[in-house]
Amino acid sequence: MFYYFCGHIHTDMNILISNGIILPMNATEGGELYFNGYLGIEGERIAFVSADSRKAEEFTVRHKDDCKLIDATGKIVMPGFINTHTHVAMALLRGISDDVPLMEWLQEHIWPIEGKMGYKEIFDGARLGILEMLLGGTTTFVDMYPYEEAVAEAAESAGIRAVVSPCPMDFRMEHFEEDWRAVRDRFSGSRLVSMMMGPHAIYTLSDKNLQRSITLARELGIGSHVHLAETETEVSDAFARYGMSPTAFFEKAGLFNTPTLAAHCVMVDDRDIEILATRNVSVAHNPQSNMKLASGIAPVKKMLDAGVNVCLGTDGASSNNDLDMWEEMRTASLLQKVATKDPCSIPAYTALKMATVNGAKAIGREGELGTLSPGAFADIQLVNIEKPHLYPHTNPVSELVYSTHASDVDTVIVNGRISVEGRRCMTMNEDDVCSSAQEHINRLLQK
Ligand SMILES: [Zn+2]
Repeated sequence: MFYYFCGHIHTDMNILISNGIILPMNATEGGELYFNGYLGIEGERIAFVSADSRKAEEFTVRHKDDCKLIDATGKIVMPGFINTHTHVAMALLRGISDDVPLMEWLQEHIWPIEGKMGYKEIFDGARLGILEMLLGGTTTFVDMYPYEEAVAEAAESAGIRAVVSPCPMDFRMEHFEEDWRAVRDRFSGSRLVSMMMGPHAIYTLSDKNLQRSITLARELGIGSHVHLAETETEVSDAFARYGMSPTAFFEKAGLFNTPTLAAHCVMVDDRDIEILATRNVSVAHNPQSNMKLASGIAPVKKMLDAGVNVCLGTDGASSNNDLDMWEEMRTASLLQKVATKDPCSIPAYTALKMATVNGAKAIGREGELGTLSPGAFADIQLVNIEKPHLYPHTNPVSELVYSTHASDVDTVIVNGRISVEGRRCMTMNEDDVCSSAQEHINRLLQK
């Protein structure tokens, strides 16, 4: 259903991870664990997960001349996070405007400076965001921005998986038409980059341009990634203009005829939730962005109960202001408990699923990503739990959701390749990434 590029780039390395606590995320609830577990990676995929040391011995014999060993003593081995809604290059705009409402923030602060950003700024901004995400255990992100070609290039060179969403908006349709073609043409051989359409939102698209996006998604056989029901104003404007909610409007327009990932869904009523559930629309919940822009609290518990696939996103770094999925996971769980006055509303394992398994489902890759199962792609993070704030060890799932920080992530593997080892990024020079971001924003703010 989605459009995945099949290339011919192979990773030949084999890796054996041993002595870690392995959390495969393939149980329905509770979280099955392998204490003193082993995980073997052959090329880009997971070969086995087991608590049986004989399996590990067989693996090392089979790959005796070509096997990297990772000792995971004192570490939890779990799937990398899937950040299902971000504008990664907005890392460049971190901190330039805080503490204002969404439309004022967009119109007076963000869009004017974004108008000055070209390919190079977006490429370097994306590298900054990707560096932050990799160091915090995110192995896949779903993006939406102008110049998704630059974001795709930054992702591939940095060794992170990306779903880029070229973004039609009324005031830049020409650019959009160039961008989606560039992504298709340049990344058809990529093992890491895939594409969705990114119709921005009901308030930035005419009917004609929305229909162009819907038609393209259908013709290319890809899904769509949209902002939906983020604020009260968006909903009241939709009722004034179309006599229906944004969710009902998009359904009527035919958007949900191809797989759709909808970010926010803060202001959805019971009828909207029914539409999302019956049309298999996945929802990217962005609690910190919604809190910072005072948009409200998405009814996540209601959506989960109705059977909606809810996953997690950070949104851009200028409305969050970081790309930390650990914080997002914890906030999602805590905020829903406050909103429903029910401490059971998002239990720890459900929060972990939202950050991994549900994210994979939202991008049409259930079973391939977000889980440590034989045959799945090797997108893995190792979390160092030998830290005072994680002691004493009693319940690994609780530790991960309620106590772990991004800075506890030690090693990150994407598609069988090591992107982070010993908290150092192996694919980018961290100093260069940070200093070029600083140079860009100094110049942009001067213009
Ligand atoms: Zn967004």
